[in-house]
Amino acid sequence: MESETRQNIAKPFLWLIVVFGALVGIYSVINLSTEQLGLGYILLVIVTLSLGSRVIVQIPRCKGQISVSDTFVLLSLLLFGTEAAVLLAGADALMSSFYVSKKKLNIAFNTSVFLCSTFLTGIVLKSAFGSMPELTVQEFSPSFLLALTIMGLTQYAANSGLVATAVALRAGEKIWKMWHDNFLWTSLTYFAGAFAAGIVAKLSTTLGLFAFLATAPIIAIIYFTYCTYLKNIEAAAKQAELAETHVAQLNRHIAEQERISNALKESEEHFRTAFDHAVGMALVSPDNRWLEVNESLSLLLGYSQAELQNKSFRTIIHPDDLGHTLVKMQELLEGIIKSFQLEHRYINQEKEIIWVLSSASLVRGEDGKPKHMVFQVQNISDRKQAEEQIHYAAFHDALTGLPNRTLISDRMSIAVERAKKSSDYKFAILFIDLDRFKIVNDTMGHEMGDKLLINLSNRLKECIRPIDTVARLGGDEFAVLLDGITNQELAIEITTRIQESLSKPFDLDGQEFFTSASIGISFSSVGYERPEDILRDADTAMYRAKANGKARHEVFDLSMHTRAVEALKLENDLRQSIEKGELQPHFQPIVSLPSGTITGFEALARWEHPERGLISPVDFIPLAEETGLIVPLGMKILKDACQQLRRWQVMFNTTAPLTMSVNLSAKQFAQKDLVEEIRKVIRDAQIEADCIRLEITENIVMENAVSAIETLKQLKSIGVQLSIDDFGTGYSSLSYLHRFPFDILKIDRSFVSRMSTDKDSRSIVETITTLAYKLGKSTVAEGVETEAHKAMLSEFLCDYGQGYLFSKPLNSNDAEEYLRKNASSKNNDYQPVEAVSQNIETIANQYTM
Ligand code: C2E
Ligand code: CA
Ligand code: CA
Repeated sequence: MESETRQNIAKPFLWLIVVFGALVGIYSVINLSTEQLGLGYILLVIVTLSLGSRVIVQIPRCKGQISVSDTFVLLSLLLFGTEAAVLLAGADALMSSFYVSKKKLNIAFNTSVFLCSTFLTGIVLKSAFGSMPELTVQEFSPSFLLALTIMGLTQYAANSGLVATAVALRAGEKIWKMWHDNFLWTSLTYFAGAFAAGIVAKLSTTLGLFAFLATAPIIAIIYFTYCTYLKNIEAAAKQAELAETHVAQLNRHIAEQERISNALKESEEHFRTAFDHAVGMALVSPDNRWLEVNESLSLLLGYSQAELQNKSFRTIIHPDDLGHTLVKMQELLEGIIKSFQLEHRYINQEKEIIWVLSSASLVRGEDGKPKHMVFQVQNISDRKQAEEQIHYAAFHDALTGLPNRTLISDRMSIAVERAKKSSDYKFAILFIDLDRFKIVNDTMGHEMGDKLLINLSNRLKECIRPIDTVARLGGDEFAVLLDGITNQELAIEITTRIQESLSKPFDLDGQEFFTSASIGISFSSVGYERPEDILRDADTAMYRAKANGKARHEVFDLSMHTRAVEALKLENDLRQSIEKGELQPHFQPIVSLPSGTITGFEALARWEHPERGLISPVDFIPLAEETGLIVPLGMKILKDACQQLRRWQVMFNTTAPLTMSVNLSAKQFAQKDLVEEIRKVIRDAQIEADCIRLEITENIVMENAVSAIETLKQLKSIGVQLSIDDFGTGYSSLSYLHRFPFDILKIDRSFVSRMSTDKDSRSIVETITTLAYKLGKSTVAEGVETEAHKAMLSEFLCDYGQGYLFSKPLNSNDAEEYLRKNASSKNNDYQPVEAVSQNIETIANQYTM
């Protein structure tokens, strides 16, 4: 059945019961015998209506209750018959209903339910056991007990059945479920009521109703005692219940507490683990003592936790970092800052430095006063080390470990600033350049070169004071900052010490090696604005030292500066000199010593400066070399010389053709197209290549020994002769000599000029001539100024001579005149052929510029 249909039939059902109730009531009134309406019945009605429905006996620990009125109704059934009981039930129900509901239908229904149920009970009992009053009179018999049971059961079934049906229909729920859920338990009260009624009925029949009624006060006392007892029980039960809820609550509370404490324990353990392992942690008291230190920190510091406890924080921190750290801690304690982070150093038990990042915050007590500081300490030594390495690499030379240019420039800046502020403060810069490093590198290999630089660096370090800085600027260049020197003599003293130290042999893998350095010195007293200026001037002085013969030092003075400025001007002029035709070769005759005849000339560059007059090559060749202008300059001299030679060869008919010696510089020698260019010049001049002698200094060859041999071979292949210039002055390596395809050795004039006074020089010249003879090479002696020189050289079997004894370098006209004069005075070899001479004159004029 749908709940809606149930609700629809609820009302009709109620009315049906009301009608039945009314009918039962009317029937009972009609059939009520006067006999039944005795004094006893009236008394029972009065008692029932006055207190019956208000006296309720609660059954402990059970929802059920026994209404006394129910018992009275059943009692009246037992004593006075069905009709009397029905009417009493009706009256009682009517009154009780008024207490519960104001709705008439509800009141009518409730009353009718009791009327019907009592009537039904009466009928069931009468049909089963006959007249009730008769049965009651009997002894307690099984049939009487059965009757009581059936009475309770019927009353219960009818009452609960009807009420459950009505409630279920109204609620739209199932009747059975409603009855089962809400009325099942009420059976107990009906049986109890039935048996109570049975007992009272029995008592009243044996004692008489009035005697029974006399027991009413006792019953009342027992009842109220029972009620009190019930209340107590209930209170106890309530208390028990309360206690139970309390216990339950308590248990819950305990469980919660346990859970919290477990969680706490867990988090405490977590905290412990974190405290012990993650980072170093410490609690530090306001007076800087370690209060608590975790395992990590104690491991980091190398002290046990106990050792650290109560020890002062100050003892572990690096002295240089203490001040700054204490300031921060004070600010924290005073509340100026909330926390701080600081990179500083600790010193561990092994006295090693440990870089840490400390993060500190303050914990205040309940009184608001600082309680302790919490330090979180992270080991950043690795990071610091890496940073230091990077920093070191940025400011140091990788090979020697010396400070690099950046670092010394930095320190020089500081020195320059200091010197500007204080006139008492002075400093000096040394610019050191090795004299023959390139040769070492090329002949002995880069590895040896590196070893030499490392050894040399160590010696430089030994020579300076602790406050000085020695730096490698690159290659074989070094700089020294002599800081805070009192006088210039001290700088000279240190410089001399360096030169002496460097002049001692270096032991490179068991090989002894000698070197020297040229050093330029500049002083702060000049008044520098920028560090690069003072370094530049030291560099200038160093060049001066090199120019003045190497292995020495020069102090920068302003005249050098002037010279440097002049050099710059000269460079500009030189650039234009070639185009302007100011550069011309002069010619110095070369004479055969045995015969005394002129065999050729050396072409020597001359610069006819419009303002300064004739400028010596000593002054402009190094400049041309430095600026690279030597390449076009050298070519111009070669071209002019070749053309001049062609004219003279045509002009003077000699048995052996005249030769022309031309100097070749280092820059030219390194030129890629050198060989091709030379070949072209010779071909254009229409001369035989073997009349040209290229002079190359020994050093040029030695500095690029490997590539030099190749170039020399190529030059030889075009037919020119090769001559070693200034032999004996450079990196003379006689052992290398035979490997180079030279034809001629030019003995340096320094030996020749000293020959008459210095025995050593004489023997050197003799050795060179002997050696050259054995190697099948010719010798030319430079700087032959006296007859004595000439005689000695002839004695040593030197082939040719060149010098002021014969002639100074001459311009082309004078040289030609010299040739002519020589030819007429000496022998036929130099007789100019008139016809040819005439011819040559014309050709020569074409070339004159
Ligand atoms: P060098 O090649 O050794 O030239 C010989 C130098 O000695 C010349 O100086 C010459 O005038 C000088 N001399 C000759 N005989 C005597 C003498 O008896 N006594 C003295 N005291 N000196 C004598 P100069 O012409 O001043 O040339 C100097 C240097 O300039 C040359 O030395 C050479 O290295 C260089 N040079 C000259 N012209 C050129 C050139 O065209 N190209 C290149 N690359 N270098 C050149
Ligand atoms: Ca020369
Ligand atoms: Ca020379």
